[in-house]
Amino acid sequence: MDLRKFIDEVPTEAEALELFNLKGSKLMELFTVANEVREKYCGNRLNITTLTNAKAGECLEDCKFCAQSIHYATNIDTYTLKDKAKIVEEFDRAIKVNGADTFCLVTATRGLVKDDSDYSRIVDIAKELKQRNHNIKLCASMGMTDKVTAKGLKEAGIDIYNSNLQTAPSAYDKRVATTHTSQDRLNTLRAAKEAGLEICTGGIVGLGETYEEQVEMAYTLKSLGANVVPINVLSAIKGTPYENQGTKEIYDILKTIAIYRLILKSSLIKIAAGREKRLKDFMGMSFMCGANSMIVSGYLTTCGRDIEDDLKFIDDIKKLWGASEDDLKFEEI
Ligand code: SF4
Repeated sequence: MDLRKFIDEVPTEAEALELFNLKGSKLMELFTVANEVREKYCGNRLNITTLTNAKAGECLEDCKFCAQSIHYATNIDTYTLKDKAKIVEEFDRAIKVNGADTFCLVTATRGLVKDDSDYSRIVDIAKELKQRNHNIKLCASMGMTDKVTAKGLKEAGIDIYNSNLQTAPSAYDKRVATTHTSQDRLNTLRAAKEAGLEICTGGIVGLGETYEEQVEMAYTLKSLGANVVPINVLSAIKGTPYENQGTKEIYDILKTIAIYRLILKSSLIKIAAGREKRLKDFMGMSFMCGANSMIVSGYLTTCGRDIEDDLKFIDDIKKLWGASEDDLKFEEI
């Protein structure tokens, strides 16, 4: 197969499936082409995202991988919505110390609608953060929502709504959850888009998914017009149904990133939870085969590595990309 044609063309589903079977030097060629696609459609900016787990645990949903589900004995800290002052402090630190471009407020919940008790507090927090800094993008990840609620969040200053598809829609009940459906997530993403928000949606590799399912998920993300696509690598958490799940091969994780880049072209592809634990020595390679965003300073219930190490790593990646002085700047935006 001529891989270079994918610098401009989007692979068909059959071609994408074929790409998942590449090995050896042809696989390295795929990585090179994916890197060129990233350069052509996204340039050399590397997005840095910091999360706050604003409300943790006791979620009524049964997502099989999740430490925050009430259905599993996972022994995590649980708390109600954090105070505004605490979130403001985290936001200021994310900008000053991490150089974050995106700050994401996450709550462990089935969903958010306008008459929820947390809604007005979240709106108040978003307004405060936006007023402190207009340039950093604010993301909300609050489960299922509707257009009216999404519009309220947008008016308060939220720029992006996150709801991960997690896996192929056809495998959702088998691999992810039974208390809601993939259609619920799709409806949320469409409502957010209609409300004028950008959408952030991706998934987890390592749930036992097939290549066919990975291709199905990629095309679903494309049809949604996903602006940001997080790729998480499963952390098998004790107490969840996935606690004994074997690890995904590194070459399969990197292939996923590269093929998603060829299909999604200009979306931000964000390397999220599990990068340090599973990719280890190969973490840098994910940014040489299509990724252009990463989460720093920890995830929802697991820690990341030291921020100094990540900032040095980001600087090295950008130099390897051949980034300009402007792209290299550690910006206090
Ligand atoms: S909805 Fe979110 S917080 Fe709740 S169990 Fe699923 S992944 Fe976890």
